[in-house]
Amino acid sequence: MIEKRLIMNDLKFSRLPLSKEMLHNLNELGFEKMTPVQAESLPHILKNHDVIAQAKTGSGKTAAFGIGVLNKLDVKKFSVQSLVLCPTRELADQVAKELRRLARATHNVKILTLCGGAPFGPQYGSLLHGAHIIVGTPGRVLKHLDKGYLSLKDLDTLVLDEADRMLDMGFIAEIDRVIAHAPVNRQTLLFSATYPEKIMDLSSSIQKNALNIQTISEESANKITEYFYEVVHNEKLSTLIKIIAHHNPQNILVFCNTKIQSQDISEELYEAGVDALAIHGDLEQYERTDVLVRFSNKSCSVLVATDVAARGLDIKDLGMVVNYDMPQDEATYTHRIGRTGRAGKEGLAVTLFTNRQIPETEYYRNESRRFDGVDTLNEVEYFTLVPPNVTIVLEGGKKDKMRPGDILGALTGEAGIEGKYVGKIDIYDRQTYVAIERSMAREAYSYLKKGKIKGRTFPAWVFGQSDSVNVENEFFWT
Ligand code: AMP
Repeated sequence: MIEKRLIMNDLKFSRLPLSKEMLHNLNELGFEKMTPVQAESLPHILKNHDVIAQAKTGSGKTAAFGIGVLNKLDVKKFSVQSLVLCPTRELADQVAKELRRLARATHNVKILTLCGGAPFGPQYGSLLHGAHIIVGTPGRVLKHLDKGYLSLKDLDTLVLDEADRMLDMGFIAEIDRVIAHAPVNRQTLLFSATYPEKIMDLSSSIQKNALNIQTISEESANKITEYFYEVVHNEKLSTLIKIIAHHNPQNILVFCNTKIQSQDISEELYEAGVDALAIHGDLEQYERTDVLVRFSNKSCSVLVATDVAARGLDIKDLGMVVNYDMPQDEATYTHRIGRTGRAGKEGLAVTLFTNRQIPETEYYRNESRRFDGVDTLNEVEYFTLVPPNVTIVLEGGKKDKMRPGDILGALTGEAGIEGKYVGKIDIYDRQTYVAIERSMAREAYSYLKKGKIKGRTFPAWVFGQSDSVNVENEFFWT
């Protein structure tokens, strides 16, 4: 009991050297005790140490660096004192929102987001009015720096949020160039969900004696919304399309009971304009690899699988899992839907059943599951689902000493394609799969099939549903 109380006291924000106003605000926000990453990192952050912390979305990481940033902010000094770099506009918006909540206790704090995809002019206008904290994506922040609209000469704290994602998205060159504008004497905080070697390399190149914090937190419980729809047997496919259109997730895993069915459903979806592939036991190993790479690098939207084929697949972070066929038992159900809603993100699970299966649904009925009629789905006249990326395959791989940097370098260098358009690069022994955002895929392909990588030209081709893909056809790329 005593031990418990001590731990509880240790986790109180009041043990930190924070202003009364900040403590009051945290209380108002309902932050009763520190989350593990806050408890481990905040004492060091507040002492101005560099910190590298392993933290996912949902761990309270934004408040960990946010409290640090706000604590040392000098509001009277009207210059940029903190910069938070994020991989995406969505994350930057989320971070800025959380910082504003935390800053409620401090008057007149100006927080500005600078992200790509938004018009440049208004950002320039806001910068003219001055800001204390900038939250942005590396490319756009760099653009303002290069044009002289933004100055980092008074920067005290630099934060890299979701650093692993920024590296995966090829932002390293831009990050380096942004940092070149910042003073050497600064605090640098790096947050990353995963710790691959390249993160440690980045840390040693931009941080000083950084404290490495890895909290052992149990996987946060998945937040999954579970829907059940009663469908007419011969309308299952059209209902599935309606469900996809209604919920509109980015990537979907559909479970069915047989190999033939998985093939048929994927083909029928494809014909209906919903990009899909099947995975089942009849595929050769190389076909399986092709399918999985395309699904995981976002150049295929729907994967239709049997339980056996999906076993052991490391597919997570799915937007939606669909039980096209009712699972055999509840354990299978739990296992299937556990692939959505990981890492603190909300998940979605949908199960179809026919009127003959109503008795089987009894197991599943409880108040947290929603049994809805198909009539609750939006009527969509014409729906297509096109994946955001295209996969280009190069006939060269590990055996040719190919590395992701070689390809990224060629694409962002000679080919002149911005790193943000380059997705995952998977290198196997003899083949390399390069995911490129659709709008840039044609340019990337034109370059890769002729340009040189490591002084050589490797044959390149693009995946299509049929073998006779006509890449010269305009429609293929749109
Ligand atoms: P984040 O991981 O930064 O995206 O934060 C996840 C959510 O947890 C946000 O809604 C925060 O407002 C909230 N949060 C952060 N720290 C705490 C805390 N100590 N107590 C309660 N909620 C928190």
